[in-house]
Amino acid sequence: MPRSSARSPAGGEGRAVADTLTSSQRSKCMAAIRGKDTQPELIVRSIVHRLGFRFRLHATDLPGKPDLVFRSRRAVVLVHGCYWHMHTCKRGRSTPATNVAFWRAKRLRTRTRDRQILATLRRANWRVLVVWECQCRDAMALSEVLLTFLTAPKPQHRKSTRD
Ligand SMILES: [Zn+2]
Repeated sequence: MPRSSARSPAGGEGRAVADTLTSSQRSKCMAAIRGKDTQPELIVRSIVHRLGFRFRLHATDLPGKPDLVFRSRRAVVLVHGCYWHMHTCKRGRSTPATNVAFWRAKRLRTRTRDRQILATLRRANWRVLVVWECQCRDAMALSEVLLTFLTAPKPQHRKSTRD
């Protein structure tokens, strides 16, 4: 039966450790925090595979262990869950019912780290594409985005960068 979302405004000190997540919300959270092989990533992989590109998975020698790595093209694809990585879409902007400050801080840390990873990769002359979970709903549009990204010319190596 549907549980009415008793969302008390911030500052409700009562019910200390109340479990307010429904089981479906909980399983969504579990899926979101599992690092590998989440649904969106599988979708991206299968599209890229069908487009005929070869790639490696989770390169541990690169910042942020990018999900898909195309070394010969010097390109990486990162697949981000909208909630944890704070996408600008509806889901990315949603707030949890409890422990608002805690989860917000955690998500902000993730976002800060994402930005650092992106900057580091780009400085090392990698082209980076971030694919958001919500983009995976439209496989057709997503495959166009991926194709455009993967067929773009390699970046010119900047003379100022050392490595
Ligand atoms: Zn999104």
